[in-house]
Amino acid sequence: MMIDAPPALCKHCHTNPVPQGRGPQRREYCGDACKQAAWREREAEKRYATIRPRFAGYTPQTQAILEGIMRTHEDVLEQVLAALDAERPDRPFKAWLRSQRGRGNPIAEFAVKAWADPQFPERGTEASYREYVKAHTLPYGIYSNFEGGPGLHNAWLNFAEGEKQS
Ligand SMILES: [Zn+2]
Repeated sequence: MMIDAPPALCKHCHTNPVPQGRGPQRREYCGDACKQAAWREREAEKRYATIRPRFAGYTPQTQAILEGIMRTHEDVLEQVLAALDAERPDRPFKAWLRSQRGRGNPIAEFAVKAWADPQFPERGTEASYREYVKAHTLPYGIYSNFEGGPGLHNAWLNFAEGEKQS
């Protein structure tokens, strides 16, 4: 006597049995509701995978909190990330320099050079940028004496002023 295998359980709810299919394709879900819910979950996981790299700089504890917010309150995640970013001492100076390269801008010369410098850090404090530019000032680096000291100083003043206003 053959013993029937117990019916497979739904891959999503793990509760209801999967109805026997007649076609060649094996069914995996108990019904359309579970099939759609599983699809939505896969889509959400894909989205999370693209968002998660933005947590990478935070401590494991903070990353776990952000992961939880993303999964339960995704609508407020951008605000939380913006608030966290505003608290960081290292500022996104390089991205800002990109917008300062226009002719007639008194800091354009420095902005053009720093933006084109692939090693110029994305973020930092005024002190860390001062160190960087000092280490890359002629004759060993790409920044002239004029750009290096005063150029960075003036650019940072404008940048800090702009951040205060936003
Ligand atoms: Zn189900």
